[in-house]
Amino acid sequence: MRKQELKNIAWAAAVAAVITIGSPAIAHDRPGFRDTPMLPDSQWRVHDPDRPYPEVVTPGPVPGAAPSDAVVLFDGQSLDAWQPQGGAWMVEDGAMTVPPRAPGGGESSLVSNESFGDVQLHLEFRSPNPPQSSSQDRGNSGIIFMQRYEIQILDAYENDTYADGTVGSIYGWKPPLVNPSRAPGEWQSYDIIFERPRFGPEGELLRPAFVTAFLNGVLIQNRQAWPGVTVWRQIGTYEAHEDAAPIQLQDHDSPVSFRNIWVRRLPEAAASHDFEGEVK
Ligand code: MG
Repeated sequence: MRKQELKNIAWAAAVAAVITIGSPAIAHDRPGFRDTPMLPDSQWRVHDPDRPYPEVVTPGPVPGAAPSDAVVLFDGQSLDAWQPQGGAWMVEDGAMTVPPRAPGGGESSLVSNESFGDVQLHLEFRSPNPPQSSSQDRGNSGIIFMQRYEIQILDAYENDTYADGTVGSIYGWKPPLVNPSRAPGEWQSYDIIFERPRFGPEGELLRPAFVTAFLNGVLIQNRQAWPGVTVWRQIGTYEAHEDAAPIQLQDHDSPVSFRNIWVRRLPEAAASHDFEGEVK
């Protein structure tokens, strides 16, 4: 038998073995090493070829666009992903805007139909131009995760206000690391990673909520913990709640506009940062 024929037979046998045994045989063809040390407290070796590959996600066609696994909450046209809590928001030129408040009227916040726990959120907002009023009455809105934890939206361009209430603050707790605000009338981008709090079976707090946030591409909160729910003029505390809840956009009586809003639900592994808690 010629060498090539032998090779062909060996190849056919290998294919049969793959079909019989299944994926473990395929794994032998994956790049990696089997003579490397085991990673601490792990079932995987260094450069283990059997370690599952990351899921493929197709990024958006341009920076800031929704990737393939995102839940789009506003695409510039439809408010279908939201429940208005008062008056209807206005949609015009690819943006949605907080409606004017009727004299004596209440808030018209938007609440997402879907509930979320750990998420990556992208959102773009625009403060009213020309600016109206000052301090907390100038371009105030907010992203309220789980309808409890607010990251502030404010026109903070040359606008003095208390530091823990400026744009990018964990409202009433942590000012942003810096203030990278654009001028009113310009679109600004928020990219936020929110980690929900964890509660034990008795409702005890196991881990607080955390936030990492970029405003206009600049880091403003780096996995900063929340002391509790957001409360004006008070220190909020934790009370056990569900693992998922809607995202709310605040109406603070300022005609703030929004566009290009999407979120990605994050797996448990994304919120496990401590070495001890690393997902194996
Ligand atoms: Mg606010």
